[in-house]
Amino acid sequence: MARERQLVIYTDLDGTLLDAETYAYEAARPALEAIRRHRALLVLCSSKTRAEMEPLVSALGLRAPFIVENGGAIYLPREEFAAWVPEAEPYGVWVRLVLGVPRARLRVCLADLKRRLPVPIVSWSDLAPEAIAEECGLSLEAAQRAMQREFDEPFRVASDDPEVLSRMAVIVAEYGLRLTCGGRYFHLMGASDKGRAVRALADILRRQFGAIFTVGIGDSENDAPMLAEVDLPILVRRPSGEPDPRVRHLVPHARITSGIGPIGWNEAVLGLLAEEQGNDGAISRT
Ligand SMILES: [Mg+2]
Repeated sequence: MARERQLVIYTDLDGTLLDAETYAYEAARPALEAIRRHRALLVLCSSKTRAEMEPLVSALGLRAPFIVENGGAIYLPREEFAAWVPEAEPYGVWVRLVLGVPRARLRVCLADLKRRLPVPIVSWSDLAPEAIAEECGLSLEAAQRAMQREFDEPFRVASDDPEVLSRMAVIVAEYGLRLTCGGRYFHLMGASDKGRAVRALADILRRQFGAIFTVGIGDSENDAPMLAEVDLPILVRRPSGEPDPRVRHLVPHARITSGIGPIGWNEAVLGLLAEEQGNDGAISRT
């Protein structure tokens, strides 16, 4: 008898399902359609906020959980999932499982950084949407969605003095928080990451579906904890044509796509679903 297992595909967005420059996912349409036919669960897993991800979840017609702010929280469709996650809190049409540290607590640490460090610190809480739109090259509406962060406080420091930066790291550690550098901004957050969220969600999905087979698809270093956590990790090539060397090092068993971004995503998912179909066929014939 065929062993039933639910296929779960966790995917990063920018540079993975979405083109790194245009944010388009047209190239991935055949695979998105195949996922629907196969009844696989597609779980979006991004550094983006709930407000940024909700329009995409609905444009893709997904009735699946999604992971926001690098693992800060998991949102699950209330109707289908609430019964399986009694520990989650109702949140509109969703139920929400919080893994990160709420922003109010992050701001206490930030206020302390401003007091104790001799350099100007500007956080997103200090800036108007117009300023963030300009700094990040976003439309005003996109900036407003990006600003609805719940578990991450982006800020910049007007100094690259290593002594200041190491004092900053010490203060952040005193609060039990974590600091990552994302290019233009530092991000202050709790100890959550995509891997922890994938693990927490897998526990929930096992309650609901029994056996699951997990796939992760990503393109950069913040995806490494997610890729390390799944049964089949897939690394999508970057616009340069190469996969991220740090992720290759961190997850050496990851499958690497031939195509870049959503083109690679499409090819990898279609290949995976064909393999799954082959497995089912082989099993049902015996
Ligand atoms: Mg990415």
